[in-house]
Amino acid sequence: MKLYNCSLESLGEQLAKGEISAVELTRSLLERISAVDDVIGSYLTVDAEGALVQAEAADLRRRQGDNVTRLTGIPIALKDLISTVGLPTTCASKMLASYRPEYDATVVSRLRQAGAVITGKLNMDEFAMGSSTENSAFQKTCNPWDLERVPGGSSGGSTAAVAAATAIATLGSDTGGSIRQPASFCGVVGMKPTYGRVSRYGLIAFASSLDQIGPVTLTVADSALLLGVIAGYDERDSTSVDTPVVDYYKNLKKEINGLKVGLPLEYLGAGLDPEVETAVRLACSQLSAAGALIDESVSLPHTDYAVASYYLLATAEASSNLARYDGVKYGFRAEGAEGLLEMYKKTRAQGFGDEVKRRIMLGTYALSSGYYDAYYRKAQQVRTLITRDFDKVFADCDVIVAPVCPTPAFAFGEKIDDPLAMYLSDILTIPVNLAGLPAISVPCGFTKSGLPIGLQIIARPFAEETLLNVAWQYEQLGGWCGRRPELEKKVG
Ligand code: GLN
Repeated sequence: MKLYNCSLESLGEQLAKGEISAVELTRSLLERISAVDDVIGSYLTVDAEGALVQAEAADLRRRQGDNVTRLTGIPIALKDLISTVGLPTTCASKMLASYRPEYDATVVSRLRQAGAVITGKLNMDEFAMGSSTENSAFQKTCNPWDLERVPGGSSGGSTAAVAAATAIATLGSDTGGSIRQPASFCGVVGMKPTYGRVSRYGLIAFASSLDQIGPVTLTVADSALLLGVIAGYDERDSTSVDTPVVDYYKNLKKEINGLKVGLPLEYLGAGLDPEVETAVRLACSQLSAAGALIDESVSLPHTDYAVASYYLLATAEASSNLARYDGVKYGFRAEGAEGLLEMYKKTRAQGFGDEVKRRIMLGTYALSSGYYDAYYRKAQQVRTLITRDFDKVFADCDVIVAPVCPTPAFAFGEKIDDPLAMYLSDILTIPVNLAGLPAISVPCGFTKSGLPIGLQIIARPFAEETLLNVAWQYEQLGGWCGRRPELEKKVG
C-alpha cells in the first residue's frame, strides 16, 4: 500500500520498526498533495520545505531514541484557524490573508513536542461559519467522493484531506458540528471532545463557549492516538479543565456487552433522509447483536429549539470576538479611507464575507439593549434546558447514537443562497455543543449513489474513553472505516 494511504496507527508501527523514515513518508504525502489537491482544494498553504525539515528532525529523534512517541514523524495538517508560528493562519478570510502568528496554538506545541510533522493549513468556511466550506474567501473544496458536492463544513478542508489521502490526520474545530458533519460527508472519523478537554489557546475564536478542536482521522484508533496528544489541561486557556488524560488508545477494545445505548426519537424525525435512517438503524442492530442494550424510548424534548438558540448565542459571541478586526491591530486594512470611523467601516465591509457580516449583524442585534432579555437571555435558558435533557438521558444510558446530519453531502450551490436551509443541516450536531458533550462521527454506510453516511455517538462529559471504545467496537462491526474514494479515476 502507498504510504499516504496508510492509517496513522500503521505508519506509527512502520516507523517504530524502522521500515520507513519520516522523510520518506512526508515525501509521499507531498507528492500526493501535488497529484490531487489541485482538484480537491483542501490546502490553503502547503509547507513542503518546513515539513521536510521537521521530518528530518523526527528521524534524528528516532535514531537517538530521544523522546519518541507514536506521532513522531507523522504528517498532520491543520484547519487554518489554528495558530502556527510563522505560517499563514487565515481563517479563510481576506481579513487575515497575510497574518502570520507570533506563536503556536497549544495543540500545535503539543504536536511538535510529540514529533509530528506539520504539512500545512486547510481550507474552511470563513471564521468557521458555515456547513459546506463554500464560505471560504479563497477557494472551493470538493468532496473526494463526488466532486460535484460539498465536503461539508466548516472543517471541509480537514475532512476532504483525510478522505483524499493528502493528510494522514488533521485537526478541525467544532462549534456546532463543524468536525462531525464534514466527517460524515467525507466518510472519515471526526471527533469533538468535551468542552474544556482540549486547549483553545491559539484557536482563533468564533464562539468561545462552544468552540473545541478535535481530530479528523481515517480510523477510530487514529482518533484515540491523536486525542491523547492534544488533550489535557492548559493554564493558558481558562476554560480548559484539569482532569486526567487517559490512554484512549489502550482502552479501545473493551467489550460493550450490557452497554446502554439511547436512540432519541427526536433525532429520527421529519426531514431525515431515508437512506440515512436505514444506515443508522442497521448500526443500532449491529450494536445490539454485540450485546448493547438499545433504548428507543429516550427523548431529548428541547431538540427543536437548539438551532434557534445556537444561532443567537454563537452569533452574539462572534459579534464580540470579531470586533477586534478593525484594521488597526493586525490583519487587513482598507486603503483610502478618510478618518478613523470610515477606515473601520471600509475595512470591515471589504475584509469580511457575506456570511460573517450576516452573523455579526445578527449577534449585535441579539445583544442590543432592549433585545438582550428577549433573545440572548432566552437562548441561554434554552441552552440549560437542552443540557438537562442530556443529563436525564445519561442518568440511564452510557451513550446516545444518532445520525450526524439529516442528509448526505449536498451539491455546490444547493443551500448557499438559503441561510436557513444551511443552518438546519446542523440540527443534529448543535445540541451537543450547547451541552458541551463529546461526540464522534463514524462512517456507517453509503447511499445508493455512493455518498458516505455517518453515525453520531455522544457520551457524558469527559467520557471520551467510553465514546472511543464504542466507536471502535462499532467500526469493527460496521466495517465502513478506512475506505477511500478512487480518486485516480476522478482526477485523471
Ligand atoms: N455550521 C455551523 C455554523 O455555521 C457550525 C459551524 C462550526 O461548528 N464551526 O455555525
